[in-house]
Amino acid sequence: MATPWLALWRRLALLFLGAALLGWLADRLTLALLLVALGCLAWQFWQLHRLDRWLRGDRDASPPRLGRVWDDVAAHIARLRRQSRKRKRKLSKLFQQFQQATAALPDAAVVLGEDDRMVWCNGAAQRLLGLSPTRDVGRPIVHLVRYPGFVTFLAQRRSGDSVEFPSPLDDALLLGARLVPYGRKQRLLLATDVSQLRRLEQMRRDFVANVSHELRTPLTVISGYLETLLDSESPALEVWRQPLHRMQEQSRRMLHIIEDLLLLARLEARKEPLPRQPVNVPALLADIADDALALSGDQNHQIEVSADPALWILGCEKDLRSAFANLAFNAVRYTPAGGRIALRWFADASGAHLAVEDNGEGIAPQHIPRLTERFYRVNRDRSRGSGGTGLGLSIVKHVLNHHGGQLRISSELGVGSVFACDFPAEARAEPTAVAVRTGIDLR
Ligand code: ADP
Repeated sequence: MATPWLALWRRLALLFLGAALLGWLADRLTLALLLVALGCLAWQFWQLHRLDRWLRGDRDASPPRLGRVWDDVAAHIARLRRQSRKRKRKLSKLFQQFQQATAALPDAAVVLGEDDRMVWCNGAAQRLLGLSPTRDVGRPIVHLVRYPGFVTFLAQRRSGDSVEFPSPLDDALLLGARLVPYGRKQRLLLATDVSQLRRLEQMRRDFVANVSHELRTPLTVISGYLETLLDSESPALEVWRQPLHRMQEQSRRMLHIIEDLLLLARLEARKEPLPRQPVNVPALLADIADDALALSGDQNHQIEVSADPALWILGCEKDLRSAFANLAFNAVRYTPAGGRIALRWFADASGAHLAVEDNGEGIAPQHIPRLTERFYRVNRDRSRGSGGTGLGLSIVKHVLNHHGGQLRISSELGVGSVFACDFPAEARAEPTAVAVRTGIDLR
C-alpha cells in the first residue's frame, strides 16, 4: 500500500481510538464515534470540493494543498493533464499537416459519417462538388450531390466500384468517384476530374472510327477491281492470277477488320439503352449453325443446336447475331476437322444462357483473362490463317454488356472450350411467333 494511505489509516485509527476513549469515559461512546465519523466525512467532502474547483478552474493553476492522499491524487491528475495537453498539441499539429496535404490534393476527399452525413471535406471537394467545409457539415451527402447514378452507387455500398457523374457546379466537368470504407461507420469519398481522360478516349474512338470509315471506300474499290480482273478470261492476266488471288484475299481481310472496327466503334459510342425487341434466339441459333456448317465446309464438324423454343430475350437482333456468330465461328476455326460443336440455349433461376462448346484445341489458362482485349490472339498466325480479325471476342463482350449480360470462358488445353453468355432473368421475353427449329443435328 502507498505510504500516504498508510499514514491516513493510522491517523484515522488514532482519531477513532481517541474518540472511543473519551466517549467511554464520558459514557457517550456511540455519540463520540458518530461525531468523529461525521467530521471525517465533512473534511473529505471539503477536499473533494476544492479538488473539483481546481479541476474546473484555470487549467494552468497548480493544484491546491489538500492533505496527503488528496495531494497525491491531485498531483496524479495534474500529470495526466500535462500529458494530455502535450498529446493534443501533437495531434492538432498532425491534423494541420494532414489538412494541408489534403488541401493540396487535386482530388476531392469527403469524410462521410453515420447515414452518409458529411463530416469533413478538403478544398478540391469545394471546387469539384461545391461542398462547404462549414455549412454542409452534418448534412447527408445525397442532399448535396443529387445525381441519380451517384445516389444509387452510394446505396449499393460496394467498395471497389466507381461511378461517373457530372459535377453539380459544372455539367461539362465529369467526375469519377470511389468509396473507401474505414473505421466502424465511416467512408471516404474520393472524386477525380476524369473529363480530360474521357475526352482523350473519345478522340481515340473517333479517330479509329474515322480512319476505318475513310479506308473502307478505297478498299471496296480495290477489292471490286481485283474481282473484275480475276473474272476476266484475258490470257495476259494468266501469270498474274496467283498474286491477284493473294491480293484479293488480303483486301477482303482488311475489309473484314474495318467492318469489325466500325462495329466496335458503334457499340462503344452507344450511350442510350438499346431499343429492345423480343429476339427469337432459337431461330437465330439455327441460322448461325447453318452458316457455321458452311464455314466448316469439308472439315465436317458436327454441329448441334439444342434450344428451348419458348426462350426469347429482349435485345437487338443484329448485335446478338454478330456476337453469337463470332462464338460459333471461333468454335469451328479452333476445332480440328470432324470435331463436335454444341450450341445450347437454356434458362435457369439466374437467367438465360447460351453455351458454345467445342472439343477443339482449348486455351491455356494464362490467356483466358486477356481474350476479350482487341487484337489479343493466342496464336497470331493461326488466327490470321483462319481469317480471324482479333476483334471477335471484344465485340461479343460489348454486345453482352449492352444486354446486361456477361461472357464466361472456361477452357482446357487439348480438351476444348466453353464460351457462355449469361443474360439476366429480366432480359427474358415472351415469344411472339412459333416457328422454331430446335434440337437439330446439322452434321
Ligand atoms: P480471332 O479473330 O483471332 O479469332 P477473337 O477475339 O474472336 O479473335 O478470339 C481471340 C483469340 O481467342 C483467338 O485468336 C483464339 O486464340 C482464342 N479463341 C477464341 N475462341 C476459341 C475457341 N473456341 N477455341 C480456342 N481458342 C479460341
